[in-house]
Amino acid sequence: MSEKKGILMVLTGPSGSGKGTMLGEYRKDHDVYFSISNTTRAPRPGEVNGVHYHFISKEDFEERIAQGRMLEYAQYCGNYYGTPRDKEEEQMNLGRSVILEIEVQGAMQVRKNCPEAVLTFIVPPSMAVLRERLIGRGTEDMATVEKRLAKAVDEIRCADRFDYLVINDSLDDAVRDFADIMDACEKGDEARLAALREKTARLKEQVAREFLG
Ligand code: 5GP
Repeated sequence: MSEKKGILMVLTGPSGSGKGTMLGEYRKDHDVYFSISNTTRAPRPGEVNGVHYHFISKEDFEERIAQGRMLEYAQYCGNYYGTPRDKEEEQMNLGRSVILEIEVQGAMQVRKNCPEAVLTFIVPPSMAVLRERLIGRGTEDMATVEKRLAKAVDEIRCADRFDYLVINDSLDDAVRDFADIMDACEKGDEARLAALREKTARLKEQVAREFLG
């Protein structure tokens, strides 16, 4: 088996797909470099500046774009989100994988600018579960929940463009599936990657039936 190399993993999924929780679990057992994004949205209760995001003003964000300091960025539900050009390259050269947790437009920019990146899309098991999760979180008002639901379906339409899919039904299974993808990519294990691609093709059909009718 070849030695593990650092990879650039982009993890995308609609708000409420549970990707943050899944990633939190994965990171407990895996030493990866997690990029902390810049955003212009207000912190949610419990979110800490410099830990969950770097919370900055719109003016500051636009200045950083103009200065070319963003690896990618997007507007999402009225706010800017972006990945600062940071230590990704250095970390990968040291053999440490880098994970960006970003939305679809940003993921497509990374695909274009960093062809070696691996793109994984995480999906909730059903529309009903997605709605429940967004409401249950209790951090957004109903208008925002509806806006995010509509956005979620738009994003799920793009799942087809991703390399791998994970369905987040049970958290443990989702963490295991994601860890499997990470490990197979880091080891460059072609046989496992081919099996994962086949599984993803089946999941894409399942997702299209559930969400896109
Ligand atoms: P939230 O407001 O729920 O934290 O994030 C909204 C969306 O923005 C999520 O899909 C999240 O993955 C995405 N996001 C977070 N950081 C970035 C970033 O740096 N760039 C891009 N393009 N999307 C981001």
